[in-house]
Amino acid sequence: MVLQDLGRRINAAVTDLGRAPTLDEKAFDGMLKEISNALVEADVNVKLVANLRKTIKNTVKFHELPPHANKKRLIQKAVFDALVDIVNPHQNAYQAKKGKSNVIMFVGLQGAGKTTTCTKLARWYQARGFKTCLVCADTFRAGAFDQLKQNATKAKIPYYGSLTQTDPVVVARDGVEKFKKEKFEIIIVDTSGRHHQEDALFAEMVEIQSAVQPHQTVMVLDASIGQAAEAQSRAFKETADFGAIIITKTDGAAAGGGAISAVAATHTPIVFIGTGEHLLDLEKFNPESFVSKLLG
Ligand code: GDP
Repeated sequence: MVLQDLGRRINAAVTDLGRAPTLDEKAFDGMLKEISNALVEADVNVKLVANLRKTIKNTVKFHELPPHANKKRLIQKAVFDALVDIVNPHQNAYQAKKGKSNVIMFVGLQGAGKTTTCTKLARWYQARGFKTCLVCADTFRAGAFDQLKQNATKAKIPYYGSLTQTDPVVVARDGVEKFKKEKFEIIIVDTSGRHHQEDALFAEMVEIQSAVQPHQTVMVLDASIGQAAEAQSRAFKETADFGAIIITKTDGAAAGGGAISAVAATHTPIVFIGTGEHLLDLEKFNPESFVSKLLG
């Protein structure tokens, strides 16, 4: 189910309620059930969905509504707020500061979209007047440096990497040191992923982190990851303590409910979403506008 379908289904459930001959508690419960089913089918964590249902019920307090209350409006607002709450961890992400070197390190599994997103984010900061560069510390995947080089060249962003150095910690440290000396304001470090979470990847992440001391660590999650997102993001959180999430491929066939559940599992804000393969396909994430757009 794609994201828009999820939105449409939730919207339809609320609209149908407004059209019901009598807006009674049975119709209200039916709407809650339909919204819950849609969310579960979109891979949102079952416990989160149960909580959302409870929250909406407790907010609306159907029994206590005065006879002439605008029930539909109240219910609509409760649904909207509860959905916003799912994607809002009430934590602020790191804000990059002009005039200093902000080091941002990316982590995530191979294929999640790290390398692509690094360049997108670099371009985003560059367009906002930051002196921006990229460091490729992915020495694991053959071709990773070439890919970053090509992307960076296209976006006219200075980059650092090595074709001969096989130790990613050395590459990361050298690159960050060089760019710090050159007074770059945004230094984005791409690291390697693996096909699966594994000890070697986690050990490497920790070593790179202690070598470059990032101001922000960003976890990249593929929207199609489904229910696996929670365990994965928890494991990454325990090891790399990332402070922000970027969900990629939101333009794809997955509704992204799993990736969205990672927010609640790790109390970490989504900062951007990837909306395509191109350099400009990156949108700043805001819980309210995301839900508004979802519901159309
Ligand atoms: P990495 O292994 O994590 O560095 O992943 P890559 O950056 O190489 O991305 C893997 C694939 O996902 C590439 O084909 C990218 O073009 C694609 N990709 C990344 N982000 C997005 C996105 O937001 N939308 C779409 N449709 N494709 C994406």
